[in-house]
Amino acid sequence: MGESNAHYYAFRDPLGSAGDFITAPEISQMFGELVGLWLADIWTRAGSPPDPIYCELGPGRGTLAKDALRSMAQFGLRPKVHLIEGSPALRAIQSEAVPGAHFHEDMASLPEDRPLLLVANEFFDALPVRQLVRTEAGWRERMVGLGEDDRFVFVAGDQPMDSAVPDRFASCDQGTIIETCPAASAVMSEIARRLAVQGGVALAVDYGHLASRTGSTLQAIARHAKVDPLADPGTADLTAHVDFAALAEAADVPGVRCLGSATQGAWLSSLGIDARAASLSKAAPERAGEIEAARSRLVDADQMGELFQVIAFAGADWPDAAGLAL
Ligand code: SAH
Repeated sequence: MGESNAHYYAFRDPLGSAGDFITAPEISQMFGELVGLWLADIWTRAGSPPDPIYCELGPGRGTLAKDALRSMAQFGLRPKVHLIEGSPALRAIQSEAVPGAHFHEDMASLPEDRPLLLVANEFFDALPVRQLVRTEAGWRERMVGLGEDDRFVFVAGDQPMDSAVPDRFASCDQGTIIETCPAASAVMSEIARRLAVQGGVALAVDYGHLASRTGSTLQAIARHAKVDPLADPGTADLTAHVDFAALAEAADVPGVRCLGSATQGAWLSSLGIDARAASLSKAAPERAGEIEAARSRLVDADQMGELFQVIAFAGADWPDAAGLAL
């Protein structure tokens, strides 16, 4: 999954109607603007600590950063921008959207001495998962092998993995799959370590579940449709649902607190997306239908509103955040 996605993202811009999938910031400027307002609000109530940096993981086309920075600037918040992006193709697009941004391969090279305003939208879902499957011989890692006709197939590994299975899953039925994302936990631990030392806030938005559960959520999307994840590696976006409980566990360290979570729909509504949509429509009545369609896509329960979750963490001395509950 890691190799496939590294190849997939390196050579293309997958976003938008002509690409493979669309994300919240690409649906409407309202998403990035509300993220920016949320950051400006908590930063202001934290006492406007000097020299914060805006830091985004997997910024796509840079649209979220651009929209968030514009709304932060209205409140006097003009952070330096640090983008963590592995893809050369997307870096080129991001540097046009956000002139002057600093680029990083990973978090290791971020400044160590100033508060973070960190955002990750649909980033964690792209990180590689590992799966364990209960076979008749016990728990094994679920791996990729070659089938008879030289196609990739899922196979069970040779090594017993029973000791890696949490007690609550140990007696699950044969065929049960447990999915974990060590890469997401590692990134979240590094974010938490930095929040404890540097202060600041981290916001993650993604599709997933608030409590850990069983089952495979690995999927592949190409040209806005689900495809076989093993059929043509490197040509489709591979994702898995984000386990928010696992993120919270990775961030559960001294000096950091979870500010809570919410569904994307509830969160955007409480931040005032209805008022923002009304004001955009008033300024451009000919676009009112399009603006309402975008609002509904971001918020409605049968669209992105309930599948997508928001979670945030902050340094211990930062205040509570708007729209989230523990
Ligand atoms: N946040 C954007 C794009 C989401 S697509 C939006 O909401 O529109 C996933 C993004 O994560 C892409 O920018 C992709 O290049 C990046 N990405 C995926 N895996 C990564 C990794 N291991 N390290 C850094 N960036 C990664």
